[in-house]
Amino acid sequence: MELKKVCAQCGKPFTADRRNQRYCSEACRRLAYRRHPRREEDEGDGPVLRTFLCARCGRVVRVTSPDDRRKKFCSSHCERLYWKHSKPSARPEPKQTDNPPPRTVTLADLYRF
Ligand SMILES: [Zn+2]
Ligand SMILES: [Zn+2]
Repeated sequence: MELKKVCAQCGKPFTADRRNQRYCSEACRRLAYRRHPRREEDEGDGPVLRTFLCARCGRVVRVTSPDDRRKKFCSSHCERLYWKHSKPSARPEPKQTDNPPPRTVTLADLYRF
């Protein structure tokens, strides 16, 4: 099925092969994206590549762009917060400053002076 449409970005007439196609080309779609970076609209536009829950806030994240590298967190903000508050057992950190091991005093220490 083919539909005669007018590109919502450049105004050029084109033949759409999808009912919800609004732009004549990928380039126009990208341009329109940049001008109107509204999430709701973007998500309805392309196919959802993957869906996941943000490991930090639990929000549903729908990735529709192949350039979108998000896999675990909805934003870099959430990612930072997550690692900040994560338990050491989940990701062992080599140095722990708030609980240093008790220092053992050796004979060498006692007779240093
Ligand atoms: Zn166009
Ligand atoms: Zn989040």
